Amino acid sequence: MLRVQPGDPVNLQNINASDCGNISEVRALEELEKLTERVSDLQELMFAAGQTPLLIVLQGRDTSGKDGTIRHLLKFMNAQATRIAPFKVPTPIEIGHDFLWRIHQQTPMKGETVIFNRSHYEDVLVVRVHDIAPKEVWSKRYEHINHFEQLLVDSGTIILKFFLHISKDEQEERLIARENDPIKSWKLSVGDWKEREFWDDYTKAYDHLLEKCSPEAAPWHVVPANKKWYRNYVITKAIYEALAPFEELWKTKLAILSEQMKAEVAEYRNSTT
Ligand code: AMP
Ligand code: MG
Repeated sequence: MLRVQPGDPVNLQNINASDCGNISEVRALEELEKLTERVSDLQELMFAAGQTPLLIVLQGRDTSGKDGTIRHLLKFMNAQATRIAPFKVPTPIEIGHDFLWRIHQQTPMKGETVIFNRSHYEDVLVVRVHDIAPKEVWSKRYEHINHFEQLLVDSGTIILKFFLHISKDEQEERLIARENDPIKSWKLSVGDWKEREFWDDYTKAYDHLLEKCSPEAAPWHVVPANKKWYRNYVITKAIYEALAPFEELWKTKLAILSEQMKAEVAEYRNSTT
C-alpha cells in the first residue's frame, strides 16, 4: 500500500492493483485476526475517553469495494460509536450550498468514528470528469479541501483516507459477477458501465487529487484492492497504526475520569450514612 507523501506525483497507471506486498493470504488472515481485536479494543478506549474523533474516508470507482470494506470494518467496530455517511448525488438543498456544507455536518464528534462512503472528493472527481461545474470552480477546491481537513485535524481529528485501487479488468469481472448473482444484481446500474467509458479521465482526476491533497496530517493511502483479503488487511493495519499512539493518552483520561466518578460515589455514600 502506498502512503502518498506531500506533493509527490502519483501515477495510478503504474501501480499494480493486484499487488499484495510480501504477505501470503494465509499470513495476512492470521494477522488480520489479531489486528481486528486490537482495533476493537482501541476504538472502545477512544469512545470511552471521548477526546478524539476518527474520520475514515473511502473513495474508489464503482465495484472497488467501498461497501465491502464497510461490512468488514463493522464486524469488529463498536456500533454505538460508529456511523456511516454515504454521499450521493447532491440534493437541491445541498447543491444550494458550498460543496463542503453537507460534508461538515457529517464529520465525527469526539470519541466517534465516521466512515465516509464517497466524500467531498467527488467534487473534484465526477464534477471534474463530467463538467458539472466549470474548471475555475473545481480547480479551487483542492485548496479548500486541504484547509477544511486541516481544520478537522487541528480540532483533534484523526483522518484516514483510502483510495481503493482496482484494475479495469477486475471491474469488468465484478460487474459481470453482479449480473450473474441474484443477491447482488440489485446493485447493478447502467451508470456503472457508462462511467467505465471515462476510466482514463477518472484516473487523471484521481492522480491529481492524490497529489494535491496528501498533506502530512491527512495523506491518501492507495490500496491495491483487486484482492479483498489484502484490502481488508492493509486498511485494518493502517487504522491500528493510527490509533495505537493514542492508547496511553486515552487510558490516562479514563483513569482521571474513574477517580472523579469514584470520588463522587464515595461522597454520596458518606452523605447518606
Ligand atoms: P453509489 O456510491 O453507487 O451509491 O453512487 C453514488 C453516486 O453519487 C455516484 O455516481 C457518485 O459519483 C455520485 N455523487 C456523489 N457525490 C457527488 C457530487 N458531489 N456531485 C455529483 N455526483 C455525486
Ligand atoms: Mg454504484
